[in-house]
Amino acid sequence: MSPATEKFPIVNPQTNTNSFFSEGHLLLRQKLQAFMKQEILPHVEDWEQQRRFPLRSILKKLGQQELLGLRYPSQYGGQDQDIFSHIVFAEELGRIPSAGISMAIIIHNDMVAPLVADYGTATQCEELLSPALRGDLVFGHAVSEASAGSDVAAIQATAVRESDYYVLNGVKNFVTNGLDADVYCVLAAMPDRNPLTGMVLLFVPRSLPGIEISEEIGMMGHRTANVASVSFQDVRVPAACRIGNEGGGFLAQLNQFAQEHIISSCRATAMADEMLRLTVQHCRSRVTFGEPLIKNQWIQFKIAELRTDIELSRQCNYVAASIWQEQGDISLLSAMAKLQSSRLVRKVADECLQLFGKDAYLDDHIIGRFYRDSRLFSISTGSDEMMLTKIAKVSKIS
Ligand SMILES: Cc1cc2nc3c(=O)[nH]c(=O)nc-3n(C[C@H](O)[C@H](O)[C@H](O)COP(=O)(O)OP(=O)(O)OC[C@H]3O[C@@H](n4cnc5c(N)ncnc54)[C@H](O)[C@@H]3O)c2cc1C
Repeated sequence: MSPATEKFPIVNPQTNTNSFFSEGHLLLRQKLQAFMKQEILPHVEDWEQQRRFPLRSILKKLGQQELLGLRYPSQYGGQDQDIFSHIVFAEELGRIPSAGISMAIIIHNDMVAPLVADYGTATQCEELLSPALRGDLVFGHAVSEASAGSDVAAIQATAVRESDYYVLNGVKNFVTNGLDADVYCVLAAMPDRNPLTGMVLLFVPRSLPGIEISEEIGMMGHRTANVASVSFQDVRVPAACRIGNEGGGFLAQLNQFAQEHIISSCRATAMADEMLRLTVQHCRSRVTFGEPLIKNQWIQFKIAELRTDIELSRQCNYVAASIWQEQGDISLLSAMAKLQSSRLVRKVADECLQLFGKDAYLDDHIIGRFYRDSRLFSISTGSDEMMLTKIAKVSKIS
């Protein structure tokens, strides 16, 4: 067992049922916490050192314990549960003191799998979703390119239809799970190039000829995830691998991003909560000038403020999730939740690092790692500026 696990047992932030969480959700949370304690937390320090974790075997174990794809139909290996089961999943993953692990699992379970569940045919669900939820098939998500990050519509990858195939060309340069994935979910432009009518989402088996995968790309944070560049050269992708309508890939992807913003927000908020919990423990034990740090009223106020911000963030996530559950329009609140939680987790990381002092500045201290990992939230899957753009647009500010 790592020192981190011994010192910092997991707490359950949701010990009561309420209007958002049922008894079933509480049991799910306990099951996930037991899974983390058994399968993940004891290994985190080693995996961080190795800058890699065994994604495939962790997905397999999650699948065996019926913890993947909770909201998807049981006929495809899901558990017929609701949106809040995924909220619980994202929160418990967000507490892992190695965000690369949670990011890799979430991309598989909450970014790519939903595209199959929501837009795939019954056959595609059987061939892709079922094995993915058993942990037998690993997904990677390949949208970003060197010249297209925030501006998704600017992608250069092309898919040209030739009878029953698409000929796929292009390079996707930040593919999380890039080294492990069996199937890449690729967004590509057809000759039309109109984002509303001319893009496709292709589920591309890694085994097809013409695919090259780079070495792992070194990252400042999220180090346990593997991120690679994947190039596609004249890859003949069967038309049956297209998810959703021909030409409708961009809109399907944007809809999925809005859902993912809520999941990302839950992960960020849980990370902030975990950092603050560790910091309170530290402030209780660290003695300066003859008394524990926690006796200092300024520090109490600081912690109380952060606690308040975290709780507000959590409630915002839950309201957004409720709207999602009721199949309402989540475009505004999902962007607001993602924006404020991404900023919050960075702020909490900074404040906690300050309260830990020099120890947190040591290489691979748990808080220093959270500090590095937290920085990504404001950049990836919709940067802060893109969230502001969306909020301004949906609110018809201009
Ligand atoms: C660790 C990691 C993992 C990733 N995993 C994946 C993955 O699995 N799959 C995938 O497809 N992508 C992945 N990405 C890429 C990620 O989605 C992009 O980083 C993100 O979309 C932002 O794009 P960009 O970094 O190219 O920034 P850019 O689009 O170049 O923008 C740079 C900055 O300018 C701001 N900006 C841009 N345009 C405007 C504007 N008009 N007004 C104001 N501000 C603006 C942006 O908000 C950003 O802060 C990953 C990235 C990282 C770092």
